[in-house]
Amino acid sequence: MSLPASNQAATSCSKCRGMGLYYEPIVEVGRYGSLQLCECVRAECCCDGTAPYRYWDDDSRHQWCPCRPYRRKMTETNRLFRQANIPERYKWKFLDDFRMTAPDGTPIDDLAGMVYSLIHQGLIDAAEEPKRGYLFHGNPGTGKTLMGCIALNELMLRWTKPGRFLKLSLNYFQKLRDSYKPDNVHYGQTGTILEELCNMPYLVIDDFGVEQGTAWQQEVLYDLVDARYGDQRFTVVTTNQPLNELEKLAEGRIYSRLVEMCQFIPMDGLDYRKYLNG
Ligand SMILES: [Zn+2]
Ligand SMILES: [Zn+2]
Repeated sequence: MSLPASNQAATSCSKCRGMGLYYEPIVEVGRYGSLQLCECVRAECCCDGTAPYRYWDDDSRHQWCPCRPYRRKMTETNRLFRQANIPERYKWKFLDDFRMTAPDGTPIDDLAGMVYSLIHQGLIDAAEEPKRGYLFHGNPGTGKTLMGCIALNELMLRWTKPGRFLKLSLNYFQKLRDSYKPDNVHYGQTGTILEELCNMPYLVIDDFGVEQGTAWQQEVLYDLVDARYGDQRFTVVTTNQPLNELEKLAEGRIYSRLVEMCQFIPMDGLDYRKYLNG
């Protein structure tokens, strides 16, 4: 299925930036807002929004409605967001959720503003999908996970391709390990679990190197990073570890890959959350 990243009529639309869809954060039912079809697409719609989105033209020919690809894109985007494993509080967060001033009137500081423009230029203004990702490093509570999720959400919304949030917990490695045990429900899935992550168009690896890990864990991580590096897949890594600790993993092989595939961004001394709506 081919879905439009943008169309001619919509490219000049500032509301949806040419995507035909936008996220409306105002909550009507439940906890989240919802994706909406943009006015620029609604204006072209001749089918009243009724499936299968066809209409009769002036010459009595049955036509597909121009809204159809965007309605399908909306369904698909909702599905992608359900499958991405993003933590609840970062689900549906976008760069627009940032304010340039905190509620107490403090203007956004230079570093936070720099990260904002970096993501804006790299992911939103850019005409193509990014080939390089980001590595956010710094103390806990500086908004690294939030920024990683915003990057992931922006890309999934814009390009309608799958993304995944991966928390590198002991649990994760346990699941992998279990997949080697014949009596476990995950038996035989190791290849599938890893292959899916290697091929995922957009991936956030959260809490990288949270502990040294065993040689086996480091090897699993190296394989994942190396596969994504080889295919130039967009990867965001967040870590609380000092960089010289990361360098020790798998004899430096992981680190040297990350340097190639990610822009390193120090986040120390920041509290991005005070600039976030909601
Ligand atoms: Zn629009
Ligand atoms: Zn229509």
